[in-house]
Amino acid sequence: MKSLEQLKKKKLFLFDIDGTLAVGDTLYEGSAELLAYIDSIGGKSYFITNNSTRSGADYVEKFRSAFGLETTQDQFITSGYMTLRFLKSHYGNKKIFVLGTASFVAELRRSGLDITETAEDGIDCVVAAYDSELTYGKLIQVSKVLLTADVPFYGTNPDLRCPIDFGFIPDCGAICNLITATTGKVPVYLGKPSREVVELCLDASGFSREETLVVGDRLYTDIACGINGGVDTCVLFTGEARPEDMKDTEYPATYQFQDVKELVLHTRGQ
Ligand SMILES: [Mg+2]
Repeated sequence: MKSLEQLKKKKLFLFDIDGTLAVGDTLYEGSAELLAYIDSIGGKSYFITNNSTRSGADYVEKFRSAFGLETTQDQFITSGYMTLRFLKSHYGNKKIFVLGTASFVAELRRSGLDITETAEDGIDCVVAAYDSELTYGKLIQVSKVLLTADVPFYGTNPDLRCPIDFGFIPDCGAICNLITATTGKVPVYLGKPSREVVELCLDASGFSREETLVVGDRLYTDIACGINGGVDTCVLFTGEARPEDMKDTEYPATYQFQDVKELVLHTRGQ
């Protein structure tokens, strides 16, 4: 771990949500205190999530009703939002095949993108998202596009599994692995751990890399994202990662604490 003194200089915080600040509808003890502290020192909190099924507006509402926290839409950087930004800048007037939920497809269409869900001529790229409405028919269509057209393949996020009350269900990474096993095509992922997520928050807030900390519970997305973005990271052991995972990982975190309560104590210096 780096010196704990450095932690007290942090102003820009990029938080994962599930397993880091909260689980489901339950906010962890210490999360509200840490967010209030960041506000009190003139800092900024962003919530970076690889969940592409909720929009920024959905999260503002969830934070208010479930957690009693007031936030603004610009604080939420979802993998869906990162994907939208990427597609608008690289495929603004191109045809995009999308494998995703109806609401995700509708959101992309609303922003003016040319989206199709069928294997047709003239497709310029393929995007796969977490699709809780996945059908075998959709898998046939995506396989057809990737096997008959030589086009780039993107995934919204590499997470293999999504936590749920009984354990886990397949997330975008697992769906993409199924497609890769079938077509031999490997996606480029656009959410965490892409460095673009960190760049976006740095640009929007004006803070420096030295003032920034990425906080999360998953090594290959959260901690990797901070490492890729060239900023300090902090792993909390309230979600996926376990202390024993830190012995032999390609994603060593700068700091590690048991939970957000311990992080707030060291950040405030009390
Ligand atoms: Mg998490």
